[in-house]
Amino acid sequence: MKPAGKPLGPIPPGWGCVDGVLAVDGVPVTDLVARAGDTPLFVYATSLLDARVAQLRAAMPARLALHYAVKANPYSPLVAHMAGLVDGFDIASGGELAILRGVGIDPRRVSFAGPGKRDRELEAAIAAGVTLNCESEGEADRALAIGQRLGVTPRLAIRVNPDFDLKGSGMKMGGGAKPFGIDAVRVPALARRLVAAGVDWRGFHIFAGSQSLDSAAVIETQSQTVALALRLAAEAGVPLPHCNLGGGMGIPYFPGDTPVDLAAIGAALGERLDALGPDAADTQFCVELGRYLVGEAGVYLCRVVDRKESHGEVYLVTDGGLHHQLAASGNFGTVVRRNYPVAIATRFAAEVEEEASIVGCLCTPLDRLADKAGFPRAEPGDLVAVFCAGAYGASASPSAFLGQGPALEMLV
Ligand SMILES: *Cc1c(COP(=O)(O)O)cnc(C)c1O
Repeated sequence: MKPAGKPLGPIPPGWGCVDGVLAVDGVPVTDLVARAGDTPLFVYATSLLDARVAQLRAAMPARLALHYAVKANPYSPLVAHMAGLVDGFDIASGGELAILRGVGIDPRRVSFAGPGKRDRELEAAIAAGVTLNCESEGEADRALAIGQRLGVTPRLAIRVNPDFDLKGSGMKMGGGAKPFGIDAVRVPALARRLVAAGVDWRGFHIFAGSQSLDSAAVIETQSQTVALALRLAAEAGVPLPHCNLGGGMGIPYFPGDTPVDLAAIGAALGERLDALGPDAADTQFCVELGRYLVGEAGVYLCRVVDRKESHGEVYLVTDGGLHHQLAASGNFGTVVRRNYPVAIATRFAAEVEEEASIVGCLCTPLDRLADKAGFPRAEPGDLVAVFCAGAYGASASPSAFLGQGPALEMLV
């Protein structure tokens, strides 16, 4: 009898199998672990990053620029690789700016959003020529004062808190009271004031939500976003040199999830932009994407340390866990815990033989990478793969918890 167990999320496309072992571009992950010297290990595949950007370029209108939201994965070699693929970068802290500068990315390709920017972060960004997406009137005033003090004309855009949100999104970033952006009704007055103050005016940034798999909702939100930006610029009587439409496209993590229809989204946005009047002829539109660009290009590998049974249930205890994979454990903004795509990497082609839970090495019941799912029988020494680990993994998990420390990372 093959026990079914709870379902696992869908393994993303592009991963291979060599001699029964999960492989990246023909190289078994056992070789990659040997090269890295230890587990746990995050592996990010450049071939999958390249493929994803190529799909986007093919589907999206040619005039749309692609930006990478660095917070999804700030691993320097990955960021350096993205520099050759995307048009711009969006950061959310001075620390991320330092990472970009460390790999030689031109700050003029960078915009900086996020609440709570400190004066020293504003100063570093303005001095470097980064575009600031102002999150409040107060922040805009501080930017003006810092620009004056430095003798540098700040490049400023306004982050708008739209009156709508992205339906079906995992994280709502707009609509109603929010700590992000400036309420749309107050934007024209500030835009006029900034342009009059002689800043290098960069237009609007409107980010309505993220992790939506509802293609119709993404299309609707993008259309509303374009309309809002044009309306605000017209109301303010200012030009719209640049318009950041946000992101929103999610990736399938859980059983039953299906990918967004990229072709439909691209076609709809193309029509929307083609229909714009002459006042938007020179507007540069962009989308900023994090997990959609990098999420499916990464896998997290940890090793089975122990195999035990309790009350008839099998536990595979690994050297990894929620300290590197908070989201996969179900503790990063999820309401109901569901299984990510998880597999026994060293028995990747084998049949399901038993129901098992895969847990981490932390002393907390929260530390669960797969709950009562069907797997081939695994033993200590086997490698476990958690897919969709390219975004919000290593940098978005509490690696210092219980003294465990960070995982290794590798770009191949
Ligand atoms: C988090 C964030 C993103 C990236 O979101 P993803 O879901 O990873 O695509 C983009 N822009 C802003 C302003 C963000 O806060």
